[in-house]
Amino acid sequence: MILESNHLQSSLAWRTQLLNWYDLNKRDFPWRRFISPYHTWVCEVMSQQTTMAVVVPRFNEFVAKLPNVHALAHASDEELRSLWVGLGYYARARHLRAGAQDIVNRRNGEFPQSYNEWLTVPGVGPYTASVLVSICLDFPKACVDGNVIRVVSRLTGTSAVELWSEKGKASIQSLVDGLIDPVRPGDFNQAMMELGALICRKQSPDCCRCPVQDACLASARNLTTTCPPNKPRAEVRRIQLAALVISSSDSVADHPPEFFLIERQEGFLSGTLGFPLIQHTGPQSLVELCSKLSAIPQVRTVTLHEANVRHTITRNALEVGQIRLTCDARTPQLLAELSRTVEQAQIAAAKQTWVSKKLVSRRVSTALDLKVWEKFS
Ligand code: SF4
Repeated sequence: MILESNHLQSSLAWRTQLLNWYDLNKRDFPWRRFISPYHTWVCEVMSQQTTMAVVVPRFNEFVAKLPNVHALAHASDEELRSLWVGLGYYARARHLRAGAQDIVNRRNGEFPQSYNEWLTVPGVGPYTASVLVSICLDFPKACVDGNVIRVVSRLTGTSAVELWSEKGKASIQSLVDGLIDPVRPGDFNQAMMELGALICRKQSPDCCRCPVQDACLASARNLTTTCPPNKPRAEVRRIQLAALVISSSDSVADHPPEFFLIERQEGFLSGTLGFPLIQHTGPQSLVELCSKLSAIPQVRTVTLHEANVRHTITRNALEVGQIRLTCDARTPQLLAELSRTVEQAQIAAAKQTWVSKKLVSRRVSTALDLKVWEKFS
């Protein structure tokens, strides 16, 4: 894809203006107060698909509890899960820990010193490696995220939908690699992202306050509404689920009710702790399932609550109802019966735990489970 970029390459005054603007206007994020590969890495992984308003408090808590790569490498599943609540995709946290373990075990805790070395760390891809080497090692490698694509699209007046293809992104990467400030590459990358987040916003870019307006073809040609073009729509997958909210009966003497949580073993919630989730095909299948659950000897009551939670994880639109069960005894036989009835081997086989009512919200590790719990309580 050809980008109209001669004006950006022939005069670099816009780059100086961008950096000057960044120096005066950058947001005061905790990971910007002092630069370290560990903090930069953690914040980069946390901020994938999450807003900064969510990330900042979670980041502060994370680095307070796990202040360095050694602490992260030795973090338990439970600790990691509790620090990742609300940040989505727990698998990212596990990959981050796997990377930390690799650095501790294979490199004695020393961070890589080049782009290619970072790429050998498990869980680190080209984008994360670019962030790390440009910010922490002053290596001129461009970071191309959604904000940067939007800014480049407008600076070059490009409205071709091909911009979003792998080829289009490669063209942008190559262009910005050539435009990056060789003295302040990390600041340049952050300035481009900050410009996209604060000024060159998706809706209503604030061109009058933009430090690079003189170099912007979309502004000059009145193309800001068509640059960038809309992304081709990704197909959204509708998934119907029922959460099994299982509690031990409170009528058993000396045993206040406790709730059953499992560590999920598969699917996009793999590794998270929460309520067992059953995929179903509609209300009728749930009614049939409830009737089978009622027949389990240790089960005392079963109530069905149709989809009352909606939750989206990337392209998965989840509609989640609840089947609430109370049972007499927390025995292996009960779990075996439940597992067989809902055809989910992991209920009996996976790591599971019973927790008191007041601990449920602290132990579950996804925003989806918190929503289910809010509806329950
Ligand atoms: Fe974006 Fe407007 Fe600045 Fe162009 S002038 S980069 S459209 S904010």
